[in-house]
Amino acid sequence: MNILILGSGGREHALAWAVKQNPKCDKLIVAPGNAGIALLAECADLDVLDGGAVARFAEEEAIDFVIIGPEAPLAEGVADRLREAGILVFGPSKDAARLEASKSFTKEICDAANAPTAGYGHFTDAEAAKAHVRTNGSPIVVKADGLAAGKGVIVAMDEQTALDAIDDMFGGAFGGAGAEVVIEEFMEGEEASLFVLVDGEEVLSIGTAQDHKRVGEGDTGPNTGGMGAYSPAPVLSAEIEAKAMQEIVKPTMKAMAERGMPYQGVLYAGLMIKDGQPRLVEYNVRFGDPECQVLMMRLGGQVLDLLQAAAEGRLAEAQVNWSDDHAITVVMAADGYPGAYEKGTEIEGLDALPEDSKNMVFHAGTKAEDGKVLATGGRVLNVTARGSDLQEARDRAYDMVDQITWPQGFCRRDIGWRAL
Ligand code: AMP
Repeated sequence: MNILILGSGGREHALAWAVKQNPKCDKLIVAPGNAGIALLAECADLDVLDGGAVARFAEEEAIDFVIIGPEAPLAEGVADRLREAGILVFGPSKDAARLEASKSFTKEICDAANAPTAGYGHFTDAEAAKAHVRTNGSPIVVKADGLAAGKGVIVAMDEQTALDAIDDMFGGAFGGAGAEVVIEEFMEGEEASLFVLVDGEEVLSIGTAQDHKRVGEGDTGPNTGGMGAYSPAPVLSAEIEAKAMQEIVKPTMKAMAERGMPYQGVLYAGLMIKDGQPRLVEYNVRFGDPECQVLMMRLGGQVLDLLQAAAEGRLAEAQVNWSDDHAITVVMAADGYPGAYEKGTEIEGLDALPEDSKNMVFHAGTKAEDGKVLATGGRVLNVTARGSDLQEARDRAYDMVDQITWPQGFCRRDIGWRAL
């Protein structure tokens, strides 16, 4: 099988690493890829938002299967272009990708499916939105309807913060994404994520994870794209996971099919759990980054068979071979992140690391230059390990961190603390 993966982050490095372990994988190309990915696959310079260009490239390279990593190409309809060209693809259509691209759309689907989630109002003008806040009081959550690179959600602990957020959003702080606003009831509880493959009809859980969004130890300081993650998430017990599948995932996927937009791909359900009851916080239409890294570490090469079964509508006959293991990933970021940071600093010591089926450094923002590895982004490396329990996995990951020399980088030393 010739395989093309779209994307350039740690998520796509982990996908490529897992797919490559499957003996079915012949040629593996990642577009655009990064310096870590280049060590195990061919990297191609391609505009991944241009569906026509991706389809032409796939035909030229005799690609049998395209796996789409990030949300942007999905929201642009790249999966649709590939399907029209008769190419097998893993990832939802542009219509189905609205589960991430529009928060009000997701809320309507939840209503139709009677799925537990926060109560809400949907507004197209600031005065009505403010009146809703004044009536309901704080805490309350203000969300830009569209894609806002993870920044369009304000959890307001007081009324003024919510009113200011409404002014910002309607004032254009998030561009078109803020032209409509969803205001939600504040949900208390513990957050965890459930990852489910969907083939249009059937669903198959491929694991749970929890991440650390704040930059500082003890989950303090500003929000980031994620400073680390671990799988499984202990708070998502088998019982609560079954509940989430039964009450949230299955009925919403059925509602999508009934609307003529069957969902195919990975569905990432962000859940809030309180008193044994899961409620939906949000859906994403792709793997989380860095959650993907811990899932891939646990699943390994079988991932290719599972993604292919989802793309071909054969999930009913698929199953996950679980081992009783735990995985963790520690994000190494450039000093200053999530604020301003320096680019182009050198990272040493990666060559000497024991990379195998239990230890892997996935690259999120690097480039290779004159035999050196240079940092090119905010989040730069995902140091990932697996063990028979979380403590063992964590010890392995921090052992690797300690062998990496990067004076201009940092990481949190407490990833997984809640679970441990
Ligand atoms: P979202 O992009 O919708 O997942 O929101 C980002 C983060 O905001 C979530 O991971 C939660 O921590 C928080 N959040 C979103 N919606 C709510 C809600 N209704 N109640 C409490 N926290 C929320």
